[in-house]
Amino acid sequence: MKVVRTIRELDEALAPLREGSIGLVPTMGAFHEGHLSLFAAARRESDAVVVSLFVNPAQFAPGEDLSRYPRDEERDLELADEAGVEVLFAPSADEIFPAGFQTWVEVERLARGLEGDARPGHFRGVATVCLKLFNLVRPSRAYFGQKDAQQAAVIRQMVRDLNVPLEIRVLPTVRDEDGLALSSRNAYLSAEDRERALALPRALATRDPERARELLRDLDVEYVEVADFDPKVLAAAVRVGSTRLIDNVVLEGDPR
Ligand code: AMP
Repeated sequence: MKVVRTIRELDEALAPLREGSIGLVPTMGAFHEGHLSLFAAARRESDAVVVSLFVNPAQFAPGEDLSRYPRDEERDLELADEAGVEVLFAPSADEIFPAGFQTWVEVERLARGLEGDARPGHFRGVATVCLKLFNLVRPSRAYFGQKDAQQAAVIRQMVRDLNVPLEIRVLPTVRDEDGLALSSRNAYLSAEDRERALALPRALATRDPERARELLRDLDVEYVEVADFDPKVLAAAVRVGSTRLIDNVVLEGDPR
């Protein structure tokens, strides 16, 4: 696996891979089985797999967990290498957002509500960095997790609206044995918080917003809502201690 940190190095590493198809998995690192499922799908469907590891400052609102976001690059490199990733692109913030940067992608309706309301500017940061990664890597397919259902919907819409020539693939949420959706942020949870957090998957498993709200009454709930994405989901965000967790279940259809 080649680890590259600049756009120039990325271009050089990709040049020999461009004859075949490239699968791109954008990530913020602290890999878990959810990330690995995306790497494996990309591995199955593409000739070469490129993973980006970038804790994107543009998608964190002021006061969010940017500075304490879990980082373990050494372990991430090992896991990506074992998963058969060809190129891992781990740029600095300056490489992606150099001085003078001033162009942003704003997906409108789909980026409102749910995470968009809770995290002002979040999807503008996500969409912009994803479009930059798509332009830099020029993959045939890019892989996202259903865990972030609104993100998948926003990216799919951007790709459609801006005629970005690639296929978006969305893979099912990977859960721990106890039902908790895997997330890099689960590392913040104490044992006690983690036990309390299990109310989230249990509530969503009812597939009923009213019953879900009832089961979440002891947690600090930001929203529990049916969202008409493709596919339709019941989505929720809660705070357990100082940790913010999101999850959703598909109500109709399958993630593609
Ligand atoms: P992140 O590093 O958290 O930005 O996530 C990178 C990609 O992995 C995103 O497309 C996420 O939706 C996806 N992902 C995160 N957690 C999971 C999970 N538990 N199951 C499947 N995909 C996930």
